[in-house]
Amino acid sequence: MNDKMRLILMSCCAPCSAGAIKQLVDGEIPCIDDFIVMFFNPNIYPDSEYQKRLDEQIKYCEKLGVKYVVGDYDHNAWRNAVRGLENEPERGQRCTKCFAYRFCYARRFAQENGYNAIASVFGVSRHKDQTQVDSAAVAVCGDIKYLPIKWDENLRQKIGRESDFYRQNYCGCEFSIRKV
Ligand code: SF4
Repeated sequence: MNDKMRLILMSCCAPCSAGAIKQLVDGEIPCIDDFIVMFFNPNIYPDSEYQKRLDEQIKYCEKLGVKYVVGDYDHNAWRNAVRGLENEPERGQRCTKCFAYRFCYARRFAQENGYNAIASVFGVSRHKDQTQVDSAAVAVCGDIKYLPIKWDENLRQKIGRESDFYRQNYCGCEFSIRKV
């Protein structure tokens, strides 16, 4: 039996994941033997915004020399998954569904590609509820271990200050676009 920990780190964007990726590269999370960054975010709207976030993610991964995988971008399928929850507030039931949808995809990828653990940076934004993210993951990860890692927020902010990341001002879906 292979007991090496092979992790999928789910990322929503470069600014949220930069610190976590650096920590993994530096071996700061000791139980991890190997990891890949997964960008699976069909929740992002519109597709021009999706492309900007994806480009930034790839640029950062390539800069640090880490593996990454880009999941399918099918926003219509995601819309079907959250149907009926359009008017939920951020942190409400639509978000629970959205997290679960993305963790399900990661679980399938893990099962098919020899990974045995999943973590995410979905909860690092101050607009997010880490407990909600963790609960959604635990509910769907099944035989793939979910690791509720508490990432170094100071490092994330430091890298952010030193970088010229594209920064969005909303979570991702059309329902989270803030009216200014
Ligand atoms: S606000 Fe963010 S987490 Fe919630 S449904 Fe929209 S994209 Fe998903």
